[in-house]
Amino acid sequence: MKPDVSRANWTRPVPDEDSVAILAARFARLIKAPMVIFLEGDLGAGKTTFARAFIHALGFKAYVKSPSYGLLESYAVSGMTILHLDLYRIEDPEELDYLALRDLYDENCILMVEWPQKGVNHLPAPDLELEFFEDAETRFISCFAKSITGFELNRKILRDS
Ligand code: ADP
Ligand code: MG
Repeated sequence: MKPDVSRANWTRPVPDEDSVAILAARFARLIKAPMVIFLEGDLGAGKTTFARAFIHALGFKAYVKSPSYGLLESYAVSGMTILHLDLYRIEDPEELDYLALRDLYDENCILMVEWPQKGVNHLPAPDLELEFFEDAETRFISCFAKSITGFELNRKILRDS
């Protein structure tokens, strides 16, 4: 029987950027490469803010740009390579082939993808899906495991909270 990887899924309120930074720092502390994380939610929902806080928490000192124009930004930090993709502007998933993601993504990488639905069939399978949303009161992040690796990270995050 396949294990139920949804058992450690979680949702957290993130009322301000400080709470995003705390959560992102927890990820940075517990994560191991390789890992593929899809970042989902409307424009302005907080996807880049989370990725930026995560990359800074890993120890990257300089500015973390939104990759929405360049499509891909890459960071060598903490002995890993962080690939941060934003597919909002692509018209066709095949445009992704020019990035040669297959060559870039290896065991040493953490791949974070904004607007992954625009890259259908041209991305590696996710370990985690983070969903950014809000209600009338505040913003939230939900985290859904999509693999055993994702489930294990989720379990550690819950234990660490
Ligand atoms: P996305 O990448 O999903 O389009 P951004 O991360 O660029 O969204 O965030 C859009 C705006 O929302 C930014 O001005 C950012 O500072 C703000 N923001 C993001 N997350 C939060 C939060 N949890 N609380 C308050 N403001 C936030
Ligand atoms: Mg963004």
